[in-house]
Parts: sequence; C-alpha cells; structure tokens
Amino acid sequence: MKPNPITAAPTDAAARKSIKPVICYPTDTLPRPDLSAYRALRDDLELIETVVIPPRDAATWEVPAGHFCRLVCPEGPQVGDLNLFNLDNLNERFYSGKTRALDGTHVGLGDQLFSNFPYMRPIATITHDTLDWYGFDEFGGSVHDVIGTRCDPYTHNLLSHGGQYHHCCHSNLTRALAKKTGLSPELAEPHVHDVLNVFMCTGFTRDTGQYFMKASPVRRGDYLEFFAEIDLLGCMSACPGGDCSSEHSSDTAPCFPLAVEIYRPKGLPQGWQAPPVSGYDRSHGL
Ligand SMILES: [Zn+2]
Repeated sequence: MKPNPITAAPTDAAARKSIKPVICYPTDTLPRPDLSAYRALRDDLELIETVVIPPRDAATWEVPAGHFCRLVCPEGPQVGDLNLFNLDNLNERFYSGKTRALDGTHVGLGDQLFSNFPYMRPIATITHDTLDWYGFDEFGGSVHDVIGTRCDPYTHNLLSHGGQYHHCCHSNLTRALAKKTGLSPELAEPHVHDVLNVFMCTGFTRDTGQYFMKASPVRRGDYLEFFAEIDLLGCMSACPGGDCSSEHSSDTAPCFPLAVEIYRPKGLPQGWQAPPVSGYDRSHGL
C-alpha cells in the first residue's frame, strides 16, 4: 500500500477503515521475569571488564549468564548497532523482528530480547535505561529501536550509484566478528544480523510510513543495561552516522566512541534459571 491510490475506494471503505485494531501478540501470557528481583542485584555490582568501541568501528565482548552488561555513551552523542549471539552457538542470535512483534518498535526497561528460530527464548532482559524519560516524541520517534536493520555497504552502493564505503555498521560488525571467531570475513558476514539500534532515535513518518531518524537525545553518561539470560557474545558498532542527525554511511558525521561494561552481581535472582530453548517439537505437521 502506498499513499496515492489508483484504485477507487469501495462503498464501505469508511466502515472497513474504522475497525479498531487489536494487538497482534498480546503479552498477558508471555512469561515475564520479576524485574524487581533483577534490579535488586544492581545495588552491589562488581565491574569486571570494560570494552571501548572506537568511532566507526566495532568490538566484541562476552557476558556470562547471570551478569549485567551496560552499553554506555562515554563521550559525545553516538548510536550503537548491537548484535547478540549465544556464546557457544553462533547460530542462535538476537531476533529483532520477533522482539519487535512482542515488545514493540522500541525496547526499554523490562523488555526481553529474543533469539531466532528454532531457539526462540529470551536471551537478555533490559534492567535499566537512562533515556526512558524520552518516551515517544511528537513525531512518533523514540530510542532503542528494533525496526531498522543496520547501515550497510550494499544499500549505500545502491543509493549512491556505485559508492564503496567500508565502515558501515554491517562491515564493522563483520570485521569484529571475524576477528573474534577466527572466521574469514566471508564466513563471518552471514552471522551479522538485524540489530538493536542502541540510543538511536527513530520512527515511521505518519504520511508515508517511511523510516526516519533524528538526532539522538543520548548524552555522556547515558546507558542501556541488560541482564544476560544465557552466556552471550556481544558485538556492537559505533555507527558512522554518529548521533544519526543527518546521514550515515560516510565519514562526515562527528563520531564518538562507545563503551561496554560487564558487571558481576553478588547473587542471582531468586529461582532464576537460564531459559530453555523453545518447546515446539519442530515436526511442522509432518
Ligand atoms: Zn550504522
């Protein structure tokens, strides 16, 4: 559907359009963790590792299950493109599409980040977000979206009529994953997946439904924090778009580093266990 139709509206068009929507995936039956039990652990955390991600580049890190991970803006406004993997199985990875279907277009406090089929389980739970005051702005924009993909050299090549740019988030993630795993770039690249756009402020235009971005409200010291439900391999790119106020896929935007902090709590939430993979039997009706 596009906004300028060439088909005449049927006589009952108004009635059809006036039907109220229902939520695709009501979450009242979704198993949710006791967030207060997670957050109670935050009073006594031990910082065990800090990883700095240079501008227009990416880095990897590990988060053991039961640990906290903070994605930090340590200097100027900067957005990050996050990939998450099962540390022991690269084939299990963050699934932005299903996370979006369950949590909405932008994630925040209490949201669970889900993995792909056939695993389909929460692999991380968001436990703090210093930008949660932002909510949704007058344009329908918000932060930490799971609607974008990641800036990439293929789309850049298409839209710039042959341009070659090597520091899009897709390439940054590919290089970092190849370095971490020892895989060749060709074998690492297919593991790079649609991201959680950390700190990025995005939405869809109301008139044309186009994906938009605007200057991120993130400032020095802001962070998004999650609890690792399984052993995780994280990989994040400091987007060449900087705060994504104007453009990406170039070296023109001011860019800053990002930091990742791994924290060990003194205990675990009462009764916590790593979530099992999906219970679907995978017979698919055969
Ligand atoms: Zn990017």
